Amino acid sequence: MKTQLHGIGMTSQRTRERMVDRLRKEGIRDEVVLGVMASIPRHIFVDEALAHRAYEDGSLPLMMGQTISQPYIVARMSELLRTGGKLDKVLEVGTGCGYQTTILSRLAREVYSIERIAPLLDKARQHLRELRILNVRLKHGDGHVGIPEAAPFDAIMLTAAATHVPQALLQQLTIGGRMVLPLGINEQFLWLIERHADGFVETKLEPVRFVPLVSGTA
Ligand code: SAH
Repeated sequence: MKTQLHGIGMTSQRTRERMVDRLRKEGIRDEVVLGVMASIPRHIFVDEALAHRAYEDGSLPLMMGQTISQPYIVARMSELLRTGGKLDKVLEVGTGCGYQTTILSRLAREVYSIERIAPLLDKARQHLRELRILNVRLKHGDGHVGIPEAAPFDAIMLTAAATHVPQALLQQLTIGGRMVLPLGINEQFLWLIERHADGFVETKLEPVRFVPLVSGTA
């Protein structure tokens, strides 16, 4: 583990800074998000055989057919959540390897994250421990239902594509809160949903590609 965290070359701070420069060129403006992405080692979240590709701008395979999102989309979705104002309590649906969770842990006071695949959640838990992240609560379950006992959330992020907006999650948003999610089956788009006192405002953003949101647990 030590060698992974303190590796040189492809896993160094300079490699991460090059990634951040690229994200800036791709349009990410939020320097707080960029600063966090420069500080979190992405390579420890992927298979050792893929660690040398951890800072390229692509998604990479995790176990059980899942993927770690590309750095651009992690930055973009984080930026979208932050433009809503204070992030006290945030919910992520689709923990995967825990990379996006870790980025969120540096942007919010408290992060809850749900994953339906138990072995993936175990891995995420190991990674968070390795990085000594203490403000994240992980839950094994179906993200469609959210975490009513911890609601309301200032922000909710889905990192798997839904076919429709899960109603339970809308109800767990605080007034003034926002949700970012990929929606669609063959053609997916990122959507931003803002909750106001008198209802929800939905905004369709750019095309994206995510693994599907699946019901039940595994
Ligand atoms: N945020 C992750 C992305 C993982 S890919 C990262 O940074 O690595 C999306 C994840 O969503 C997968 O791990 C998949 O198992 C999970 N997922 C799919 N449907 C889900 C559901 N209904 N509830 C919780 N997690 C779900």
